[in-house]
Amino acid sequence: MDKVILVWFRKDLRIHDNEMLLEATRRGDLVLPVYCFDPRHYGPSEYPAKKTGSIRAKFILESVADLKKSLQNLGGDLLTVLGKPEDEIPKLVARYGVHEVYHHREVAFEETQISERVEEALWKQQVNLKHFIGHTLYHKEHLPFPIKDIPDVFTNFRKKVERDSFVRPCFDQPTQIQIPAGLEIQSLPELADLGYTETVPADERVVLEFQGGETAGLTRMKTYFWDRDALRNYKETRNGLLGADYSSKLSPWLALGCLSPREVYWEVKKYEQERTANESTYWLVFELLWRDYFRFMFKKHGNKFFQKSGFKGQAPAEAPNQEELFVKWKNGETGVPFIDANMHELNATGFMSNRGRQNVASYLVKDLKVNWTWGAAYFEEKLIDYCPASNWGNWAYVAGVGNDPREDRYFNIAKQAQTYDPKGEYVKVWG
Ligand SMILES: Cc1cc2nc3c(=O)[nH]c(=O)nc-3n(C[C@H](O)[C@H](O)[C@H](O)COP(=O)(O)OP(=O)(O)OC[C@H]3O[C@@H](n4cnc5c(N)ncnc54)[C@H](O)[C@@H]3O)c2cc1C
Repeated sequence: MDKVILVWFRKDLRIHDNEMLLEATRRGDLVLPVYCFDPRHYGPSEYPAKKTGSIRAKFILESVADLKKSLQNLGGDLLTVLGKPEDEIPKLVARYGVHEVYHHREVAFEETQISERVEEALWKQQVNLKHFIGHTLYHKEHLPFPIKDIPDVFTNFRKKVERDSFVRPCFDQPTQIQIPAGLEIQSLPELADLGYTETVPADERVVLEFQGGETAGLTRMKTYFWDRDALRNYKETRNGLLGADYSSKLSPWLALGCLSPREVYWEVKKYEQERTANESTYWLVFELLWRDYFRFMFKKHGNKFFQKSGFKGQAPAEAPNQEELFVKWKNGETGVPFIDANMHELNATGFMSNRGRQNVASYLVKDLKVNWTWGAAYFEEKLIDYCPASNWGNWAYVAGVGNDPREDRYFNIAKQAQTYDPKGEYVKVWG
């Protein structure tokens, strides 16, 4: 009898450097690739925000469509279903006589809880859920410490990892995918099927036309590194606010797994050999380490990153009229031009620079004294590159309840605007 392996895609929407997919093609006779549009991701959140805004929803749909095309090019296909994975996957297992299910392990609470539910349901069918680890640059098993002993201070983590660990080579791309005969393939859902009635805003001021999917992600990496040759100046430009090339803009593709961080790393190494190796090329990898770090911190500290008091035990002070202040902040109506401009950009395009994110987050928590978790939940809805660990980890950091070793770091907004937007060009575009 043919061995059928169901590959459950989540935030790993690619065929390059995808251990789970490659293993399935090696160990199974037939592979059943599946993606679930989980209605919980498109509904309200427990905060005054939606889980996913329309800009990211569109990016997800494009990414899934691109994955489907890539799988079809390998002779396979992608089965998409609208429903909870813990309900849908067991049904597919029964219908197609699946022997084993593969997926990538996630780190945040909701995602791991869903995996547990799927595992439980499969258990009743005596089918195993095999976990792969594939989201980080450094593999968990190659860290120089167990998760529970990972230093809480980034610099200590980074130095040890850089000294004592290594980045694995990328996994080969499968050359062929054999799917079960007679698959009942549904057409891809559209935004309306996910409950979006509004049109997705289109704004010509957007830093980059973000198109979802592995193909566009790889193209962006090529453009930024090789065609524009922007990587050589990354360290000097990365605090910019306007235009496509002050930073890589790879985050939306990295967040959905359309791009593997190892693929980016090895492309940096190639660039270093063929063009130049300098502080800028190092710095891009340094930033990818921040991404790893927050994921490992989530693994270590679990749910604490979603709590007001983080892992410091005490939440920041809150103003009595914080609801009203929060609405002004969200709408970019605080009266502080640099803050408002950044919020307008986020609302119109789903993107904001790292400098902008630090400032608006600090302003919300330290100046307006609003509950930082509301801000993080608002970012969760709006960001095109939302990723639980990077978002909630950075917010907790800025709020002073996370990993920042400096007590009471404060962003002087006027000074920041003067330094990073000295001629007011950014505020002119987005104010
Ligand atoms: C309050 C706040 C919330 C944030 N929320 C998110 C989020 O939901 N998703 C997200 O990907 N990033 C988040 N960031 C981190 C950072 O702002 C973005 O990764 C970055 O601006 C994306 O642009 P880029 O791809 O051009 O980055 P580049 O400067 O080109 O950096 C390359 C890559 O490194 C990673 N990276 C860079 N900085 C950080 C960082 N501080 N933390 C974690 N990873 C980093 C990203 O994957 C990024 O794509 C947040 C930062 C703050 C201060």
